Amino acid sequence: MIVNELFYSLQGEGSLAGVPSVFIRLAGCPLRCCWCDTKYAWDETAGREMSCEQVLEALDGHPTRHVVLTGGEPMVHEGVSGLAAAIREKGYHLTIETAGICFIEGLEADLMSISPKLSNSLPENADRPAERLNLGVLRQLIAAYDYQIKFVVDEPDDLNEIADILEKLDELDLYSIYLMPQATQMDAYMEKSHWLAEYCKQTGFSFSPRLQVMLNFPKKGVDEEAEIDRLYFLGVGCDKGIVFGRSRRKISFQIF
Ligand code: SF4
Repeated sequence: MIVNELFYSLQGEGSLAGVPSVFIRLAGCPLRCCWCDTKYAWDETAGREMSCEQVLEALDGHPTRHVVLTGGEPMVHEGVSGLAAAIREKGYHLTIETAGICFIEGLEADLMSISPKLSNSLPENADRPAERLNLGVLRQLIAAYDYQIKFVVDEPDDLNEIADILEKLDELDLYSIYLMPQATQMDAYMEKSHWLAEYCKQTGFSFSPRLQVMLNFPKKGVDEEAEIDRLYFLGVGCDKGIVFGRSRRKISFQIF
């Protein structure tokens, strides 16, 4: 299996936002969303081959029992079932982050974190937009797993599209639906958060933070050649927090 990156950080979104987790990012995604922040993982060969044993070994030594299998799109890989089972067998809580375009019979997960892609994600030259949203697969995932559904919202009009999708899905748990602003920079994040938060209050959907935007997490969590190979967020109060990074040469602190 080609692993694009494997790193330790905080879960940035959804019900487990803020929970320290080890992320395994598998290479390859067919969707090519225009605002994707992990374009470097689109190519199926973008990474290095790792055996299940090597991945399990890399999980050791982090003070967490949470593992996140992400991508790219992890559900397009045949070998993902064996890896998921092995991770859970070691006692980890496993979240799978998926766009909800594939269903794999028997795949194990503690939380299926589904992020259906709205039309705001369409790449400019999209020729098969229908494949981005598969209601049949979404229904299967919702029926088979503890789940959360996260929508990336870019503008108020997206809320109509979300309402349409939710209407077509059966027996959804209102409290498992999260809306989060589409943004890569803090100013856009804050602007969209204000109106989105109001909408969440009106509908009962949850507002999800995106800590990776708020805290400006590094684009690649662990790059063996990178200066900083770990980033720890130590705490945040009303307006203060501390981040420290450890590189091969130094440990640095930043208070913001
Ligand atoms: S589904 Fe996720 S990984 Fe794939 S292009 Fe869209 S945002 Fe990027």
